Amino acid sequence: MELIFASGNEHKVVEVGEILKPHGITILSLKDIGYLEDIPETGSTMSENALIKARTIYNNTGKNVFADDSGLEVQALNMEPGLYTARYAGPQKNALDNMTKLLANMDGIADRTARFRAVMALIINGEEQTFEGIVNGRIHTEMYGEGGFGYDPVFIPEGYDQTFAELSDDIKNKMSHRFNALDKMIKYLDNLKS
Ligand code: IMP
Repeated sequence: MELIFASGNEHKVVEVGEILKPHGITILSLKDIGYLEDIPETGSTMSENALIKARTIYNNTGKNVFADDSGLEVQALNMEPGLYTARYAGPQKNALDNMTKLLANMDGIADRTARFRAVMALIINGEEQTFEGIVNGRIHTEMYGEGGFGYDPVFIPEGYDQTFAELSDDIKNKMSHRFNALDKMIKYLDNLKS
């Protein structure tokens, strides 16, 4: 099965492609279909933003599509940065700036509990569905590791002592918020087939 993944984030495209490949699902990114415009995230929830992206591409192509929206929620910061995760330190959406701001805002805070949350919005044959995935963890006091993207150098998933940026892609892709949301989407697609 071929699905468009309505994302311009190359890291996400690689991660999602690796997760879906063993299930016989091939993805086409926005770059692959030549859609280079930025889709404004004007929703007030992650579900709304994921649906906005999926609907934009469905209306444009008429093809089966899914999109995601994701973010980091930190308990001691009232679940911020949440919807503003990408532009936490400003519109430049720079990962280093974002992590620097986060670590500064958490300076001296003992409760480091945090989670990544992702919502996948799927439109298949015109039907809309959303799937949510979460990975619980905590925020490190410094940045560690070279792998991954975004906030990976400061996020330690539950059950580990290393950040996502230190752990292998293989480990991250079997437990991440995106994996957990995609797992639900895969099961939904399997049910459609049977
Ligand atoms: P969006 O879903 O593209 O709007 O991105 C939301 C923000 O969350 C971006 O700043 C991403 O870098 C960050 N983010 C989403 N997923 C991950 C992840 O798996 N690791 C690190 N940062 C992430």
